[in-house]
Amino acid sequence: MLLTAPRGTQDILPGASANWQYIEATVRDICRLYGYKEIRTPVFEHTELFLRGIGETTDVVSKEMYTFTDRGERSLTLRPENTAAVVRAFLEHKLYAESLLSKLFYIGPMFRYDRPQAGRYRQFHQFGIEALGSKGPAMDAEVIILAVQLLERLGLNDLKLFLNSVGCPECRPLYRTALQENLREKTEALCGDCQSRFERNPMRILDCKNPKCAEVSTGAPHIVDCLCEDCNAHFEHLKSLLAAAGIDFVLNPRLVRGLDYYTKTAFEIQYAPLGSQSAVCGGGRYDGLVAECGGQSTPSIGFAIGLERILLALEKQGLLPEVNNGIDVFVAPIGKENQSIAFKLLCDLRKNGLTADMDFMDRNIKGQMKQANKYPARFVAIIGDEEALQGKVMLKNMQSGIQELVDNIAVQNKIQLEMED
Ligand SMILES: [Zn+2]
Ligand SMILES: [Zn+2]
Repeated sequence: MLLTAPRGTQDILPGASANWQYIEATVRDICRLYGYKEIRTPVFEHTELFLRGIGETTDVVSKEMYTFTDRGERSLTLRPENTAAVVRAFLEHKLYAESLLSKLFYIGPMFRYDRPQAGRYRQFHQFGIEALGSKGPAMDAEVIILAVQLLERLGLNDLKLFLNSVGCPECRPLYRTALQENLREKTEALCGDCQSRFERNPMRILDCKNPKCAEVSTGAPHIVDCLCEDCNAHFEHLKSLLAAAGIDFVLNPRLVRGLDYYTKTAFEIQYAPLGSQSAVCGGGRYDGLVAECGGQSTPSIGFAIGLERILLALEKQGLLPEVNNGIDVFVAPIGKENQSIAFKLLCDLRKNGLTADMDFMDRNIKGQMKQANKYPARFVAIIGDEEALQGKVMLKNMQSGIQELVDNIAVQNKIQLEMED
């Protein structure tokens, strides 16, 4: 018998689920403010989608996917991220035909066969948005500001926004060549990964975490100096929109994305108190992805936020709200004979929208009062033989300690009146 959850997964227990609900509710609220609608795609997709949509040469695809063959001999993969699946749904359901711009968000579990470590899981959760259809820099600004506002709403104020442009298929090849020229003499000093990146994907050398590689690439040309007119104008306009909105940013020429369909804006938001895991949000424009997945060229931008990391930050900073487990009424019959009347009252109270509970463990009245205090309950409705005989209930206000004999059918009204005071 298996007694533990699989490695890299975690149970979210009743004591912790309220924290998740709080984060999710904040996410939904912000998305509503900005007009983003929720999309829920399956947790698994055809493997082919991720090979095309994420890129076969990426670590995610080559090392980290949960891929399996189902009973119909189809190769399926648990989603390692959600942008490709959103694009697939966008095309499959022709969302582009409904409106020129689709503003979508998702929240859900993703799966990567990664080495588990603190705050990192094989089943983890992401919130992300995708805006498909607009090429204008105002779209980029909206997406970035949404992310910042969400994090600030959660109380994370020490944020740093890093910004870069990764160009487009027109200007990037020129930059690639210039970068390779600059590094060619020094490739031997690079780490093994970067040596193999040199031909295939030299821009990724710039964001290698190995300090040796960082040193080698110091002094390498910056892509923002090599942008074509269109990319440059886009980037300048975005910067002015962010500045006008009062959003601080830092230009980071090392912020790159590996694949061809990423274009123009790349951004990352860091929350410094998290130390080595300070990146809480990563995103950017992907004007080439929809076409890569077989659709009409559709300029798009999005981001993803890892929710485990956000939760970690909120815990660390004491920013999680206190959970309220209190109920309105606890119904307490004295003796088995009065349980049916109590149960009927309980059902009526709930039907009328009050949070109510009773004892299901045959506790005596003392034990039941203890239960009521544990919640805590604002009122206890006690039904003993005498009360039952008169069709009444002894209603105790747990705050004031005042008890009052109330008609069974009037309990609801009495409680509501007192709660309004
Ligand atoms: Zn360009
Ligand atoms: Zn390296």
